[in-house]
Amino acid sequence: LVEVRGVHKSYGTLEVLAGIDLVVRPGEVTVILGPSGSGKSTLLRVINHLEKVDRGFVAVDGDLIGYSRRGDTLRELKEKDILVQRTRIGFVFQSFNLFPHLTALENVVEAPVSAQGRPRAEVEVEARELLARVGLADKVDARPRQLSGGQQQRVAIARALATRPRVLLFDEPTSALDPELVGEVLDVIKDLAHGGTTMVVVTHEIGFAREVADTVVFMDAGRIVEQGPPAQVLDAPRHDRTKAFLDKVL
Ligand code: ATP
Ligand code: MG
Repeated sequence: LVEVRGVHKSYGTLEVLAGIDLVVRPGEVTVILGPSGSGKSTLLRVINHLEKVDRGFVAVDGDLIGYSRRGDTLRELKEKDILVQRTRIGFVFQSFNLFPHLTALENVVEAPVSAQGRPRAEVEVEARELLARVGLADKVDARPRQLSGGQQQRVAIARALATRPRVLLFDEPTSALDPELVGEVLDVIKDLAHGGTTMVVVTHEIGFAREVADTVVFMDAGRIVEQGPPAQVLDAPRHDRTKAFLDKVL
C-alpha cells in the first residue's frame, strides 16, 4: 500500500534520510522509533510530499506521490493535484494543527468539501459520525481553544479520517499532551488499528507499539537500523544502537 524506495533527503550538507526502504501493507500498523534527529518526522513528511525527496520515490496504492512520470522523467505535480493526493494520506501532527477559528465540526468538514469537492450536507453527516467515534459527539460546535489537548487531538484524528484516506500518518500524536490525556488519544488510535486502518505511527510509547504494531521500525541517523515484529525488535533487538535506545526509553 505504501512503498518507500531508496529515499534520500538532505538539508544542505546534512543527510537526514540516507536511503530508506519501507513497505506498509494494507491493514498493518507500523510504529517508527528512534532518537531525536534520526529523521522520523522527515520520513513522514516525505510520504505526504510535505518535503521533496532528493532521490528515490514514494508510492501509495501504486501511484507516485508528488510526481507524474513521462517515460523516464518525473515532473512534480501541481499544488492542486498534490492536495488531492494528500486527501488519501491522513496526517496527525504532534501539535494538533487545527484551524483555530473553526469549530470541531467545521475542522472535520473542511478538506472533504474543499479538496475533494464532496457535497457539504453529506460530509457533515459523516463528520458527526467521526466525531462521535472519537468520543466527541457533544463537542461538535466547540472551537479548539475550548477543548483540552486530548480532545483537540481527537478532533485532528477525525479530521484526518474525513477524507477517507488509505493510510494515516501520526507524528508523535501524544507527546504534546499532559500525561493524563495520553490514554484517551492512544485508545482512539488503538480502536482504529483494530478496525483495520493502515497506519504509520511515530511514537515513544513502547507499550502502545508492543500492543498494536505489526512492524516496529528503529531508525538512527537517517537509516532503518532494524525492523520486524514487536517481539523481535523490542524484546530481542539485534543491534547495539537499538538496545541502547530501548534501555533509555523503557
Ligand atoms: P524528533 O524525535 O526530535 O522529532 P526526528 O527523528 O523526527 O526527531 P527530524 O525532525 O526528521 O527528526 O529531523 C532530522 C534532522 O533534520 C534533524 O537534525 C533536524 O535538525 C534536521 N531538519 C529537519 N527539518 C529541517 C529543515 N526544514 N531544515 C533543516 N534541517 C532540518
Ligand atoms: Mg520528529
